[in-house]
Amino acid sequence: MSGGKDPASGAPVSSAPVLEVRAAAYTVPTDLPEADGTFAWDSTTIVVVHAKAGGAEGVGYTYGPSALVSLVSDALAPVVVGSDAFAVPACAEAMARALRNIGQSGGGAYAASAVDCALWDLAARLAGLPLHRFLGAAREDVPVYGSGGFTTYTDGQLSDQLGGWVADQGIPRVKIKIGQDRGSAEQRDIERMLVARETIGPDAELFVDANGAYTPKQAARVAVAAHGAGFSWFEEPVSSEDLSGLRFVRESISADVAAGEYLTRLADVERMCSAGAVDCVQADVTRCGGITGWLRAATVAQAHAVGFSGHCAPAISAAPAAAAPALRHLEWFHDHVRLEAMLFDGVLDPAGGTITPDAGRPGNGLTFKDADAEQFRVA
Ligand SMILES: [Mg+2]
Repeated sequence: MSGGKDPASGAPVSSAPVLEVRAAAYTVPTDLPEADGTFAWDSTTIVVVHAKAGGAEGVGYTYGPSALVSLVSDALAPVVVGSDAFAVPACAEAMARALRNIGQSGGGAYAASAVDCALWDLAARLAGLPLHRFLGAAREDVPVYGSGGFTTYTDGQLSDQLGGWVADQGIPRVKIKIGQDRGSAEQRDIERMLVARETIGPDAELFVDANGAYTPKQAARVAVAAHGAGFSWFEEPVSSEDLSGLRFVRESISADVAAGEYLTRLADVERMCSAGAVDCVQADVTRCGGITGWLRAATVAQAHAVGFSGHCAPAISAAPAAAAPALRHLEWFHDHVRLEAMLFDGVLDPAGGTITPDAGRPGNGLTFKDADAEQFRVA
């Protein structure tokens, strides 16, 4: 080992072989039933990856099925163990090759993303640097928006959550789910958007997310009918598979159209941008190839003069978000915020509408709480 600091001896290091990559899955019940326009759930599974080298340990994760644990153990760990912990892009290439016949998108990409995030954290810890500075900081503070507003909430629950973000925590932008029951409850959607506006007052930004529940013309009609709610962001008004439908909605309404949370490959990000489908690309660092893929996706969006926003998983997204120059904001997703605070020390405070990666903690600043997590372990 020789560059950063050996955590044990304090000696500088610039290389160290990865000694171990291991994964485990934890399923945590939600605090209330949750649903959006096209999916419902009452628990969330996180797959946590730990990677060791040179006396340091990095941690990454993805949100996905417990089956991803064996994908990490059987397919990805064998091609990463023994590699140089500082050669993260080389490990990303090795993982992509290992996934060729398994599938480089979908679950394969989710598993590789968790490993990639753990490796970047590991390398930064070996170097003795906070991860956002190891990556190359573009900003100190990362803007966030409160995200939840599930279709299963009563109006009272919706108001309590939105008011908590805007009035109590000073977060000036929030997002709610619409498209209830696969787009079959338009009036209810519009009523809830008006309740949200009433709750947050005239100055906070209101975002809505239909999770692909509407048809293109239906989405455009709802946007006109809900004009009084003054929303400025329409996420997945139609399926993100339908690039021409997204483009139709984008050209029909004044709010920005956003999508991209399911993208796992750089070519898919390029296709979405080239199609003129969105005003803002969303990418999820736990899905799109980890920090390696996410920063490249940010660059593709910037090259197309399209906005870029981080999807979910705020604790693990904070450092790369601070390293992406054209970042618009990061999603402060209720379900993940709650789970991440239960399982990790070092999660950040969104008061005032930004989070600030801790320059005094090495790596991503997160410490996994093994003992607290054990009760939720499923694989
Ligand atoms: Mg969404």
